[in-house]
Amino acid sequence: MRIPMMAGNWKMNCDNPAAVELAKGIVEGSANALGCEVIVCPPFTALSAVNDVTKDSPVSLGGQNFFWKADGAFTGEIAADMLLCCGCEYVIIGHSERRGRFGATDEDFAEELQSVFGDNDATVSIKLKAAVDAGLKPIACCGELLSEREKGMTDAIVSDQVRAMLDGCSEEQLHSVTIAYEPVWAIGTGEVCEADEANRVCGLIRAVVAEVAGQETADNMRILYGGSVKPDNVEGLMAQAEIDGGLVGGASLKADSFCTLIEVAGRAKRA
Ligand code: PEP
Repeated sequence: MRIPMMAGNWKMNCDNPAAVELAKGIVEGSANALGCEVIVCPPFTALSAVNDVTKDSPVSLGGQNFFWKADGAFTGEIAADMLLCCGCEYVIIGHSERRGRFGATDEDFAEELQSVFGDNDATVSIKLKAAVDAGLKPIACCGELLSEREKGMTDAIVSDQVRAMLDGCSEEQLHSVTIAYEPVWAIGTGEVCEADEANRVCGLIRAVVAEVAGQETADNMRILYGGSVKPDNVEGLMAQAEIDGGLVGGASLKADSFCTLIEVAGRAKRA
């Protein structure tokens, strides 16, 4: 049985006092939430402060990104060991904003800005293996642009992204991997993917994992949905068999709404 997961991506929000406050609210508000693993991913600057709040609680800590080299002249980057030192267990990789898209919903988003942060299928694949080898559990993101969906390319884009990120991984390396399906047009837009369609794409991702790494690995892997998950749409999403939880941006910045998502995910998957 897959344990549901609710991961909060705080993005570039919360100075340290605000991060500590939010973390305390989530620790307290999720204390009685049964059966759902809870992860918070604050900005790097707040990791240690948040770790002081979460370390003796069931809430786990994650980074929003990392660089695969152990050390060196990589200004502005952060290594896996540095995340581990701050108490991180998880790391998000390949988020569409790191892939440079910044929530772009159509092709008029300047091409040159789309790669400003530089992640692509090849770097996500390197990061996935580097994270696992360093002892971090990656939450690896994939998802199509609106323009790709409108051209009927969703399945091809998502399958290719998943194949690329898993390329060269051993079955053992895949045990600690979670995949998040995040249609780019749904991130931060308030426009949620219909629950049955999100379920269909998560099922497609599971089928690709089965093809690459075998059915057992696929059956054990958690696949999350991300994109404008909110208290008012979470029930329908969590009721879907292929969706094992959520990767949440906006609604993770308020303890009460995030705790509602946690409670619903735990309840839905216990049922
Ligand atoms: C995200 O940051 O991964 C995300 C899904 O954001 P939001 O929930 O705000 O759409």
